[in-house]
Amino acid sequence: MKVVLYAVRERKGWRARFSVAWEADAAYWGVKAARIVRVTETLPLGIAVRACDIWNERLVGIERGEWQEQRGQGQGQGGGLAQGLAEEFEKVVRTAWELAGEKREALQNARVETGERGVGLREREKVPLAGWIQVVSDLLMGRSLLREEAIELLASALPADCTIDSLALLQHAALAGALQLTAAVAPRPAPPPRHGLRGWISERLRAAPRRRRAQDLACRRCGSGKDKLRHTPCAACGRQACAYCEACLTMGRSRECGLLVIGVPRLAAQAMPIAAHQIPTKEMLSERWGLSPAQSAAASEALRFLAGQEGDAAAGIRQRESQSFLLWAVTGAGKTEMIFPLLDAVLSRGGKALVATPRRDVVLELAPRLVKAFPGRNHAVLYGGSPDRWANGALTLSTTHQLFRFQEAFDLVLIDELDAFPYHNDPMLHYAADKCRKQDGVTVLLSATPPPRLQREVARGTISCARVPVRYHRHPLPVPVRLASPSIAHLLRKQALPAKVVEALASSVRRGAQVFLFVPYVKQVDSFVQLVRSYADKLGIPAQAIAGTSSKDEERTGKVVDFRNSTTRLLITTTILERGVTIPRSDVFILDAHNPLFDASSLVQMAGRAGRSADDPFGFVYYGAPSWTDSQRNATLQIRAMNALARHKNYLLV
Ligand SMILES: [Zn+2]
Ligand SMILES: [Zn+2]
Repeated sequence: MKVVLYAVRERKGWRARFSVAWEADAAYWGVKAARIVRVTETLPLGIAVRACDIWNERLVGIERGEWQEQRGQGQGQGGGLAQGLAEEFEKVVRTAWELAGEKREALQNARVETGERGVGLREREKVPLAGWIQVVSDLLMGRSLLREEAIELLASALPADCTIDSLALLQHAALAGALQLTAAVAPRPAPPPRHGLRGWISERLRAAPRRRRAQDLACRRCGSGKDKLRHTPCAACGRQACAYCEACLTMGRSRECGLLVIGVPRLAAQAMPIAAHQIPTKEMLSERWGLSPAQSAAASEALRFLAGQEGDAAAGIRQRESQSFLLWAVTGAGKTEMIFPLLDAVLSRGGKALVATPRRDVVLELAPRLVKAFPGRNHAVLYGGSPDRWANGALTLSTTHQLFRFQEAFDLVLIDELDAFPYHNDPMLHYAADKCRKQDGVTVLLSATPPPRLQREVARGTISCARVPVRYHRHPLPVPVRLASPSIAHLLRKQALPAKVVEALASSVRRGAQVFLFVPYVKQVDSFVQLVRSYADKLGIPAQAIAGTSSKDEERTGKVVDFRNSTTRLLITTTILERGVTIPRSDVFILDAHNPLFDASSLVQMAGRAGRSADDPFGFVYYGAPSWTDSQRNATLQIRAMNALARHKNYLLV
């Protein structure tokens, strides 16, 4: 889009601004009888944002009066100043074009306008503007939306008698300080000002003219830098090379001339802090939420963190220094129950909480449980295409990608399965998770298999962490058994399974277990199904009770249902089923466990499918491979360490 660039005489000097609806600014400054100078030619948003940055960075120099004196020399104050400002604009806009990598003609039409006292006031009095601005501010608080999204949201919620144009309303709200309007792709904001001597030095440096880097653009929505930005000719702003962000394209196009509307958080909307004496005891947690001793202990540690403390009685309780807390709970620990008291603590104090999970099916499964646990609260359930798109919930449940649409919105951000696809190794989603948390809010990370980086932080003590080393049924995790076996490629070539593998599979079938058989590659699934079917007699099940599925299988959901109701007894699959699917009484075989696709996390997750139910807590897990790798060793060590901790803490029933 194109916008109006202008400068207004504020207390500290002439500050440059841009407007997406000039009538709003004319009225606003008219009331204040402020002096303004505006460029009458509209400019691409990306250029106007850069021009404002350049102008306002030099404000320090302008404030000191150097600029004004220099410009005003030898001329009458009024005309000289007006001409000086117009020339200044010309220079700034030319620099902005140059930095954007395009050459343009100099500006033709910049002229000074002085607001006439009272004009804007009369305009504004015709409509209940303040009330509407309040509505807009409430609707958009904590949001970070593209122009179309913001307008769609306003259209869905504004009162019918609101006759003012949506864009003008956004501009009015921005002038009132309720919104921040910016370009969705813009130069990275400067770091916050420093204080003291270093601040003084950096201020002088900023005041001095310096060469600005041309390529410092970033997507303000997802945080991606120039490697994810593409430049194309743009019909909306007329530029030859208007940048857009490729990384978050699935959420709508974020571009240099596209408006990003950010709702400014309000102090009054903060959650009330939790006082230390209000933290429920383990007994209270167990009684109200039905938590096991291990769950209660971890939840109460997390609650203490929410209340601003960390550490334990043994190590000493201290003021918390960071904003992130890791809840490291083994597979099958019952983490959903554990997050209830945390959500309750925030919601009951008027705060806003978010539960973000990588997968849509988890969102859909969790939603009814949260609604049941917190009746009477506003809920928003967000995923691609969800009907709640603009719901303003005290409790928001969302897929990770939807987080881009928030900024400083939540007092508590719970990130489920942070090590899972697509969250794992995606800096964009980490940026979004940080961005959506209020400045003094807390992030709680939930994982059964934290990534190595996080495990190192735990070991160094740089992140607070509570471990839940035992499952809700209080039996130890099955420890993987090593099964020496040739590679899958070899087995397929020979069309034969080793006797040891066949015997272990048959014994699982005999004990009535459902058998997960994991292989590394999608392309191996079908041929391996054929091979295992040729052993159906030896396994004691019909050949059609052996099936396979993968991420490429459109009938996957149906096949999982067949497996759940035992129509299928042995399911050959890939890491697509490594988490999320819980089948009572199941055993796990991982073949080619040495394959680099199976890292330690993945091996722990797959092993975590076994022994989940209280009826059959002792499932079997086999790692079949020709060699024993670090990943297999680490996975086994993690499982043993959790079992040892559970025993040490007396969490085990036996
Ligand atoms: Zn982006
Ligand atoms: Zn454009």
